[in-house]
Amino acid sequence: MRAFIQMIPGGVPAVIGLVLACLFFSMIPGRPQMWLYPLVRQAMQLKIDYQTKDMLAKETPHFIIKYTENDADMVNMVAEAAEAAYEPVTAALNYAPGGRALILVYSDRQAMKKAYGWAGDASAMGFYWGGVIQILSPKAWMKNSQSTNEFIATGPIAHEYTHLVLDHLAKGNYSRWFTEGLAQYVEYKANGYEWVTVDNRLTGKIYTMDEMDADFDELPNQSLAYRQSLAAVRYIAEVHGDAKLNQVLNYLKAGVKVDRAIEKTLRMDYATYETMVNLWAKGNMKQYSKNAN
Ligand SMILES: [Zn+2]
Repeated sequence: MRAFIQMIPGGVPAVIGLVLACLFFSMIPGRPQMWLYPLVRQAMQLKIDYQTKDMLAKETPHFIIKYTENDADMVNMVAEAAEAAYEPVTAALNYAPGGRALILVYSDRQAMKKAYGWAGDASAMGFYWGGVIQILSPKAWMKNSQSTNEFIATGPIAHEYTHLVLDHLAKGNYSRWFTEGLAQYVEYKANGYEWVTVDNRLTGKIYTMDEMDADFDELPNQSLAYRQSLAAVRYIAEVHGDAKLNQVLNYLKAGVKVDRAIEKTLRMDYATYETMVNLWAKGNMKQYSKNAN
């Protein structure tokens, strides 16, 4: 034993360090970075909270909404939509994050665009970043900005809140397509909303899962990439059952990567899953048609 230790550079302290490191990492569920991730997110959240300390704030049971004077007449509607999203989102993911989620309301597109390094789609009504839901004021995009039902059904809150809850549940262990597919699945289930355009029919040329995994945000036809991500999640929930979708989420929570989590849950390899999703989507998902849209 002594001879063996002497052979290791650093000797006894190095071995003790190695043993402690092994013990330390074996105590942490999942990958070590999953342990650090919530702390980083919390720090970003605190920073955003501090940077927006001069904004007005409204608290609801599960949310804190920050807004400017300009949107004072909108905040009750945003509060109602946020609370309306709470139950369907936490039920679908079978997970409820502790504390109140922060929602920032930007009064116009310009303010939202330059906020926090966001470089997303200019037409988007909201995004999830830094542990915070960031939305465009309903005044900036809704025809009838006083219709709470319209805001609940077509607004971004259920979608962005799903991103937040998944982020808390999986501690960053998910792919871009998976979180977009899940967010659309929940808003589809809760509000019947689907993003169907002339450019995202699933019957023509579509992306491979390799392309979706590699660089989801850079795929040139984003409406198609989003549509396919919804198909990939809906296939799991509708063909195999919601319990299987929850099983995938449990694997993500435990640190298993998305592709392996799906393979283990559905007991099929990733290539077969891709084939099955595409076949199912062609026959079962709504496709754009001139008459229906
Ligand atoms: Zn999204």
